[in-house]
Amino acid sequence: MPILVMKFGGTSVATLDRIRRAAKRVGVEVSKGYDVIVIVSAMAGETNKLVGFVNETSPLYDAREYDAIVSSGENVTAGLMALTLQEMDVPARSWQGWQVPVKTNSAHSSARIEDIPTDNIMAKFGEGMRVAVVAGFQGVSPEGRITTLGRGGSDTTAVAFAAAFGAERCDIYTDVDGVYTTDPRIASKARKLDKIAFEEMLELASLGAKVLQTRSVELAMRYKVKLRVLSSFEEQSDDAGTLVCDEEEVMENRPVSGIAYSRDEAKMTLVSVADRPGIAAAIFGPLAESGVNVDMIIQNIAEEGRTDMTFSCPVDQVKRAEKALNDAKTAGHINFHDLIADTDVAKVSAVGIGMRSQSGVAAKMFKTLSDEGINIKVIATSEIKISVLIDRKYMELAVQALHDAFELEKAA
Ligand code: ADP
Ligand code: ASP
Ligand code: MG
Repeated sequence: MPILVMKFGGTSVATLDRIRRAAKRVGVEVSKGYDVIVIVSAMAGETNKLVGFVNETSPLYDAREYDAIVSSGENVTAGLMALTLQEMDVPARSWQGWQVPVKTNSAHSSARIEDIPTDNIMAKFGEGMRVAVVAGFQGVSPEGRITTLGRGGSDTTAVAFAAAFGAERCDIYTDVDGVYTTDPRIASKARKLDKIAFEEMLELASLGAKVLQTRSVELAMRYKVKLRVLSSFEEQSDDAGTLVCDEEEVMENRPVSGIAYSRDEAKMTLVSVADRPGIAAAIFGPLAESGVNVDMIIQNIAEEGRTDMTFSCPVDQVKRAEKALNDAKTAGHINFHDLIADTDVAKVSAVGIGMRSQSGVAAKMFKTLSDEGINIKVIATSEIKISVLIDRKYMELAVQALHDAFELEKAA
C-alpha cells in the first residue's frame, strides 16, 4: 500500500481533543488506502517546560541528560495518539525513536539522522497495522544514548521518514495554513504562498522562520520529498497549504519573496584583542568546541596593533561563550580588555532568489530601516539574503516596514 507521512506539531496535539481531531484526519487517509506514519511533537509548551527544568538544574548542563529529559514530551503524545486511533478501530501502535531505531550521530541536542531502518515498521504494516505513530525529535546515538534533533526537530523526523519509506507525500500539519511571506503573527498583511522554492524555504528557515526546521528542508531537497505545510485546524482539500518544490515550479519572480526574523540573538564584542595572524582561530576555535553557534562576525579596523572583534550567537549560548572565551584568556591563548554582551538584539532578513539578478535590494532595505529610525548594528549578505542585527524592540516594526517596502502583500 502507498505510504503517507503526516506530522502534527505541538499546538495540533495540545489537548486530548486536538489529538482526537488529528487522529480523525489520519483515519481519513487510512480509509483512502494509505498506510500512514504519523510523527508527533510534544504537547504545546511541554518542551519549553522541560528545557526550563534543565536550565534551572544545571546552566552548563550535560547535553546527554538534556536529551534524555527534553525528548520525553514526544513519548506522551505518541502513546496518546496510538490509543486514540485504537479507540477509532484503526490498528496503530507507538514507536519511540530508539525502537525504530532512528540512528543519529552523537551531537547531543542537535543530532543528525544517519539511518532509519524500515524493516521493523514495514513488518508491522505487513501484519495489518495501518498507522505507525512515531515520537518526533528523538533518536539514538551509536553509544546507545537518547539524542534530540534540535528545536523544531520533529519536522526533520517527518521528512527523514518520508525519504526512508519512499512516502508519496510528507504533510506537515501546524497552526497556520501554510508558508507565508513572513510570520502572519507579526505582520497581518502576510500573504500565504501556494508554492515556495526549496532554496528560499531553506534560507527563510535558517534565518528564523520556524514553520519548518532548516534540516527538514535540506533533506526534502536532497531526497526529492514532496513536502506540504498545512493547517490542522481547517478542513483540507488535496491542494491545500503550501507546497515546497523546485525553483522551476514557482511562478513568482521578484527580488524579495519573504522576510524572516530571529528574536533571541546576542551580540558579543571582544574589546581590544591583539591584531595578529591566528587571532580569529584562537577566538572562534574554543567557541566552536563549546558548541556556540556563531553567526555574523565583524572585525573592526586595527589601531596600534589591537582591534575589536564582534560576533552574534543565540542569546541562550551567551554564558557558554563567555566561559569559553574567559577560559581561553586564562590559558593565555587570547588576550582582551573587555567582553561585552548585548542580549537585546534581533536579526531581520530579506530573502529572495530574485536577488541574484536584481540590484538595489540592500539599498532599499537600509533606506526602509533608516526611515523608521532603526539603527543597524551588524550586516551580513549572501547571494539570496540580506540580514541585519537591530535592537529587539524594533524587530516587529522592521519586519512590517520591510514587508510593505517590498510589496509582499501583493502577488507578483
Ligand atoms: P509546530 O508546533 O506545528 O511545529 P511551529 O510553532 O514550530 O509549529 O511553527 C509554526 C509557526 O511558525 C507559526 O505559528 C508562525 O508563527 C511561525 N512562522 C514564522 N514564519 C512563518 C512563515 N513565513 N510562514 C508561516 N508561519 C511562520
Ligand atoms: N517538541 C520539540 C520542540 O518543541 C520538537 C518539535 O516540536 O518539533 O522543539
Ligand atoms: Mg515546529
